[in-house]
Amino acid sequence: MPPKKFSKILLAGLAPDGGLAMPEAYPRISAAQMEELRGLGYRELAFEIISRFVDDIPAADLRDIIARTYTPELFRSEEIAPLRTLEPGLHILGLSNGPTLAFKDIAMQLLGNLFEYALAKTGEDLNILGATSGDTGPSAEYAMRGKHGVRVFMLSPQGKMSHFQTAQMFSLQDPNIFNIAIRGVFDDCQDIVKAVSNDYTFKQKYRIGTVNSINWARILAQIVYYFKGYFAATRSNTEQVSFAVPSGNFGNICAGHVARMMGLPIRRLILATNENEVLAEFFRTGCYRPRVAAETLQTSSPSMDISKASNFERFIFDLTGRDTAKVKELWRAVDKGAAFDLAGTPLWEKVKDFGFVSGTSNHAARIATIRKIHEQYGVLVDPHTADGLKAGLEHREADVQLICLETALPVKFSESIIEAIGHEPARPAGYENLESLPQRYVVMNADTDAVKAFIAEQA
Ligand SMILES: *Cc1c(COP(=O)(O)O)cnc(C)c1O
Repeated sequence: MPPKKFSKILLAGLAPDGGLAMPEAYPRISAAQMEELRGLGYRELAFEIISRFVDDIPAADLRDIIARTYTPELFRSEEIAPLRTLEPGLHILGLSNGPTLAFKDIAMQLLGNLFEYALAKTGEDLNILGATSGDTGPSAEYAMRGKHGVRVFMLSPQGKMSHFQTAQMFSLQDPNIFNIAIRGVFDDCQDIVKAVSNDYTFKQKYRIGTVNSINWARILAQIVYYFKGYFAATRSNTEQVSFAVPSGNFGNICAGHVARMMGLPIRRLILATNENEVLAEFFRTGCYRPRVAAETLQTSSPSMDISKASNFERFIFDLTGRDTAKVKELWRAVDKGAAFDLAGTPLWEKVKDFGFVSGTSNHAARIATIRKIHEQYGVLVDPHTADGLKAGLEHREADVQLICLETALPVKFSESIIEAIGHEPARPAGYENLESLPQRYVVMNADTDAVKAFIAEQA
């Protein structure tokens, strides 16, 4: 599609043929600029990174949006993403101190403020329709609650999320947040979102938008903490670091890839999956074989139970040297549910140049990692972060600092924590009575027309 301004991409997301939006070029950070960035606090750093990709928001406004987003009140730390050192050369980057205790808040909170700003400018409003199996829903609702011009309709499978996650969403009483519990499974919710999104007339009439991780602005917000983690772990910009990233839809690690393309000295991007190892398999073998829903296992790191990584297309775009025809050809196969195999082709040889390696985990390894990190360092990690640590430690190199990204806090997954260490994780202040708060939601059958009628009634 012809290039569009940042705000258009923010609100519309996809190209007309379903392709993802990418910046025309990555801004390179020079050595002199790296020196300047090193001394900055999180908000200043975020402005310096994000403003390089934003072409239609005045600098003062963007600064204000960022300053209102990354506050110590919301993220319970002046540092926003504090680095914790387990031992020399081994660190955890704390990304889960936002309101829903998962790293998705870092991008979603910015998205909420950007949406409100962009909509106020055009005088439009937006109805966000989403489906969640756990972390996306709470994160989106906490980011959009009370925002002018935005309503959220969030579908979730009734009774299938943890009590903590359910309570996070259903306890919100804001009039612009609508929780819809669907009698069905997550895939039913996802199918309804797809069906509504494919109804072009309805979508136009009711201005339906999404907040899923293919939104470029979410990737953009996540680039910042790779820089933050790098500066916190190193003394000079000649050092290299490796990042270990618990992965599902390839959003988080895609931001790391962009940071590396901008010139951040990242040696390795260590991609971790759980038992659903479609991405780890690609980086091991060159074959990308998305699985269908029925082949997707339910695991104890549920936010990584993904078998078709919606952001992966972004990496392949860069891998092919930004050859849109080639990407289209490969995704024609993916969209039909088929695999593509790069093994033995020149493209597979090029994958090495991008720094990716991969590792997988499973329930036993996850529990063992949680226990080991707790015993050795007195630090409690959640099951997703544990999967990242496992793959990270397998690929750790003697002279390279390793930064493992923390993607959620243990309190969200107390069952696995009890299994690993024998007692419940501590609750952060303010979350003590979450499950006993009054809940606000409606229940519906897995029926697209019923959901459409509900949206039409509220919008
Ligand atoms: C969403 C999520 C992931 C996966 O991140 P992607 O950006 O989809 O790769 C990992 N861990 C947790 C806790 C999450 O919520």
